Amino acid sequence: MTNTQTQVLYLEDSYLKEWDAEIIEFIENNEKQVILDKTAFYPLGGGQPNDEGSITINSEKYKVINVKKSDGKIVHEIDHEGIKIGDKVHCILDWERRYKLMRMHTAAHVLSAIINQQTQALITGNQLGLDKSRIDFDLEKFDKGQMHTFIEMANQAIAKGGEITAHTISRQEAESRENLCKLAKGLPPAIQEIRILKIKDIDEQPDGGTHVKDIKEIGKLVFLDVENKGAKRRRIYFTLE
Ligand SMILES: [Zn+2]
Repeated sequence: MTNTQTQVLYLEDSYLKEWDAEIIEFIENNEKQVILDKTAFYPLGGGQPNDEGSITINSEKYKVINVKKSDGKIVHEIDHEGIKIGDKVHCILDWERRYKLMRMHTAAHVLSAIINQQTQALITGNQLGLDKSRIDFDLEKFDKGQMHTFIEMANQAIAKGGEITAHTISRQEAESRENLCKLAKGLPPAIQEIRILKIKDIDEQPDGGTHVKDIKEIGKLVFLDVENKGAKRRRIYFTLE
């Protein structure tokens, strides 16, 4: 999923806020598109927005304005030129932004799991945001009252607490498991290892995003709205208190 030259720190520790790194490459000789030897900056993907923050060398601060994956590399877009290959830099995440997105991401998994358990609806996508997040799912019959119930059930589960853990399994193992096989078979052949995120006994699925350690950290979900996006497609919006 990611090239081996960059150590991906956010997968090892989603709470890492500051670290030292080295500039190892520019994309297409563009000094504002840098690759680091180690990064905790999350690139846009899987419905989770990119991180922001800064890279500093000798008190010169470069703002990280965008982070994306390109050809398997994590590319950091900085606001001005001047950084050199081989520079030893200090990186700082915009933690308030990241932590909010971590809480939103774990909340989306909990709510998706409940919608799926209660209705067997297929979850077709999600988009996390700082102010609100949304989940898309296929469900023929539904009403707003039902959605309030699911949010309430998610809040009850969250209040009880529960650990979130990640582990890696082989593609072969994922394909042999009923709940993971459809997704595993859809992945490109190059991907032989799959990271599985487990939330207590609530949810288990392949995931490359950043999450909180315990669902208690989510706080409380608040229902915002539900929209019809077609005959079967529904979209629920929620925020966090
Ligand atoms: Zn996810």
